[in-house]
Amino acid sequence: MASLNDIRSTYLDFFARNGHKVVDSSPLVPRNDPTLMFANSGMVQFKNLFTGVETRDYTRATTAQKCVRAGGKHNDLDNVGYTARHHTFFEMLGNFSFGDYFKDEAIAFAWELLTKDFGLNKNKLLVTVYHTDDEAALIWKKVAGFSDDRIIRIPTDDNFWRMGPTGPCGPCTEIFYDHGDHIWGGPPGSAEEDGDRFIEIWNNVFMQNEQFADGSMRPLEMQSIDTGMGLERIGALLQGKHDNYDTDLMRSLIEASAHATSSDPDGPGKTHHRVIADHLRSTSFLIADGVMPSNEGRGYVLRRIMRRAMRHAHMLGSQDPVMFKLVPALVRQMGAAYPELARAQSLIEETLKLEETRFKTTLDRGLKLLDDEMVRLPEGGDLPGSTAFKLYDTYGFPLDLTQDALRERGRAVDVAGFDSAMAEQKAKARAAWSGTGEAADGKIWFELADAHGATEFLGYDTETAEGVI
Ligand code: ATP
Ligand code: MG
Ligand code: MG
Ligand code: MG
Repeated sequence: MASLNDIRSTYLDFFARNGHKVVDSSPLVPRNDPTLMFANSGMVQFKNLFTGVETRDYTRATTAQKCVRAGGKHNDLDNVGYTARHHTFFEMLGNFSFGDYFKDEAIAFAWELLTKDFGLNKNKLLVTVYHTDDEAALIWKKVAGFSDDRIIRIPTDDNFWRMGPTGPCGPCTEIFYDHGDHIWGGPPGSAEEDGDRFIEIWNNVFMQNEQFADGSMRPLEMQSIDTGMGLERIGALLQGKHDNYDTDLMRSLIEASAHATSSDPDGPGKTHHRVIADHLRSTSFLIADGVMPSNEGRGYVLRRIMRRAMRHAHMLGSQDPVMFKLVPALVRQMGAAYPELARAQSLIEETLKLEETRFKTTLDRGLKLLDDEMVRLPEGGDLPGSTAFKLYDTYGFPLDLTQDALRERGRAVDVAGFDSAMAEQKAKARAAWSGTGEAADGKIWFELADAHGATEFLGYDTETAEGVI
């Protein structure tokens, strides 16, 4: 059976054989791009090549790109533990043409790799195209021999990719795999789409326009290609699985989690192990790329993921820090492909252990408070915002951790109540500050703090310049 490590190599070798330069993944923290929190697709490091602002000594490239989708336009944090196909950290395999080949070759490459090198069953594949893209539909007919019902025309933005409000854009074609009718979910464009039966494996974007701030869109001088395929998704198919978390790599992390918590990987705590395995990867790779847990910006996203993972470990009955013990299993799996991970191993372990040790006492007490509150809640009622705020303020529970805990029990948090409790506390702090007689300084301090906070969070609240396939 081909491992995920083998499959990554097969992909890169295929495109290298076809004239593509194998380029390293860029770091998860994008360079000089304050609008994007983390690299979330392969094209991020090539943004300026599509518009022609930058040129290099190659016009074809291929990468396995580290991606984190835990904030911003594409936030999959809340999908982890609930779907078979989403991770917060995943690897995106991509091939790129910068004014070199276009639709014909991109589709022919995709088809050849999937059906010959990877040997997928052609009858299980179907594709979407942008509704007006007759050309792409025709190429699919020619290359794959698909009948019209296997080429689904989608009129929405799902099949017209934009980098953000400005920048390169164009229609795309996506390749789906049918995992069989024993799994819930409908084909793309249907009302039941959001299940795990028809899984999107590969997006091919035809970069041909540029979007401008005034709303106009003009054809680019060059026609380019930008593709992205989730390694874990294609890996599941090639390993005969219906779930990313059943692939060799994810499974070894799940088993490490089961071992460290002395629990059954497939027992009632199954979901906890999956979340832990996923969050172990995102936290470790983020630390390896220089992000440290903090209370703002990227560091706060990291802290939120770490703390969520710790709650799941707690649910498995772990009394002592456990995440740091799983790092060697991850390094064994991925350290060869990503040497930065192996290099940072001790930093990752120490950072996890410290955060786990610090959070442990308030985690236990906060969860106890939450349990007591749950007993008092009326049938089906939301958790009051004031309680969620107390958990945040006194026990260090990020709001999404509390929401995650409640979702498990089919409940939600009164978010408006949480927000107003937060606003109230800020107002009180302001009043207290001005009461010291240093009103002018206080005002400036708070203005700075607000502005600073807003800047830090820009990346995941706005939809600007997200480099997303
Ligand atoms: P989905 O609709 O399943 O959420 P997407 O349309 O958001 O996927 P794209 O932005 O088109 O995904 O990214 C290209 C490819 O990257 C996808 O076809 C998929 O194979 C993979 N991918 C995207 N998000 C994730 C994720 N959270 N975890 C694992 N793989 C992913
Ligand atoms: Mg998505
Ligand atoms: Mg999609
Ligand atoms: Mg997509």
